[in-house]
Amino acid sequence: MSENFDYDLIVIGAGSGGVRLARMSAQRGARVAIIESRYLGGTCVNVGCVPKKLFVYGSHVHEDIEDAAGYGWKIPKEDVSFDWPTLVANKNAEIERLNGIYQRLLENAGVIIIEGTASCRDAHTVVVGDQAYTAENITIATGGWPVTPDLPGKECILSSNEMFYLPQLPRQAVVWGGGYIAVEFAGILAGLGVETTLIYRGDLFLRGFDDDVRQFTATELRKKGIDLKFGVTIESVQLEGPHYQVELSDGTSITTGLVMAATGRRALIDGLGLEELGVQLNASGHIVVDDHFQTAVPSISALGDVIGTPQLTPVALAQGMVLSRRLFGDGKGEMDYRCIPTAVFCQPNIGTVGLTESEACQSHGKLRIYRSEFKPMKHTMSGRDERSLMKLIVEDETDKVLGAHMVGPDAGEILQGIAVAMKAGATKADFDSTIGIHPTSAEEFVTMREPVAS
Ligand code: NDP
Repeated sequence: MSENFDYDLIVIGAGSGGVRLARMSAQRGARVAIIESRYLGGTCVNVGCVPKKLFVYGSHVHEDIEDAAGYGWKIPKEDVSFDWPTLVANKNAEIERLNGIYQRLLENAGVIIIEGTASCRDAHTVVVGDQAYTAENITIATGGWPVTPDLPGKECILSSNEMFYLPQLPRQAVVWGGGYIAVEFAGILAGLGVETTLIYRGDLFLRGFDDDVRQFTATELRKKGIDLKFGVTIESVQLEGPHYQVELSDGTSITTGLVMAATGRRALIDGLGLEELGVQLNASGHIVVDDHFQTAVPSISALGDVIGTPQLTPVALAQGMVLSRRLFGDGKGEMDYRCIPTAVFCQPNIGTVGLTESEACQSHGKLRIYRSEFKPMKHTMSGRDERSLMKLIVEDETDKVLGAHMVGPDAGEILQGIAVAMKAGATKADFDSTIGIHPTSAEEFVTMREPVAS
């Protein structure tokens, strides 16, 4: 650690990865400052994972109320009402609480928090306003930002950022995109009673997920009243009176109260001055780093969404820990990107880890596919027409489980444990010899005996 600089480490961006790196490094004795222009906790805490999950809980309540009748509860329809401003206000209060926790975590670790917009003057100097700060190491952890394609009426289109602060809910909404954010928001809106249309340019949304999962999820979302329009895209949006007129590529149009784009995110590096210093960007605009997060400028590293690795909070957290160890610990540590489990919080949820069937087909030899589809026990009495899907992809020769996929309530919760087993190299025989927890949906993962295909 050098006395020639104000700090041993300056982190630009106080999101999940940046905060973890700053805290861990300070706890290792480094002199650390973190610079943030917007909000502590980044996308995840403020306009991502956390408020999204709270909205998902909120939007699912109406089904819980409907399902109650089968269990003997009488809840008169006229007594049921929903107040959007209350949901937003309570969500905001929770986010403010988390912002405070982030601040205390940083301060208690001895990290100096600097509010403002940073730019890099040279390989060791960061400028915020008219103040310059020097550091032996600088880490860029500025995350990503939603991207909306250019089209007439782009200014009428909201991103997920604004959706978290809508003053009121419209009666109808159009969601554009077929990835995580589009599918999750379509579920939130529909659950809250908004007539929702999802527009996706490809044949089937959720590209990259297992094909069975994609198909099954489409069926379940349609049952919930979401109008899924595939094979079309938005050509223009126009404000007409209180409504928006959305023109589609198939010549049809939709009149709606809101248009939201969830058409991907870009690396947020505006104004940082990185390219002038020699930091390289790849074709998608993400910062190029080596296995140890170092950019082309040795004193500057980068992690999280800004480097284009899987845009997931737990990945950024793990990267923060690895980088801290490398800079201020024993100098060791590598990221392991195998078997990253993930969930899409549509309703019902998707949980997934490992290879899809088509990926496994391409990279491995003969496979055995196990698949189970069933009505969750809860809905035998609620009467709800909702089904769950579970699927295991097994390499025939080694018996190793290559992929596990689920669509159903709590799929994210269930797949976390399966991910541990797969990371440890579990075989189908290990799954078979594991005693189930009865009665649960999860036990289906250890009771699928006959392959549906091999
Ligand atoms: P994704 O990259 O997941 O999806 C973007 C979607 O927009 C795709 O369906 C894509 O279509 C479509 N699209 C892209 N460009 C255009 C265009 N020009 N015109 C029409 N459609 C277009 O991005 P998201 O914004 O949904 O999410 C970003 C990332 O954030 C995710 O990849 C994920 O890593 C992370 N995230 C994770 C969550 C979780 O863990 N639960 C929740 C939310 C986000 P196509 O498939 O054809 O390319």
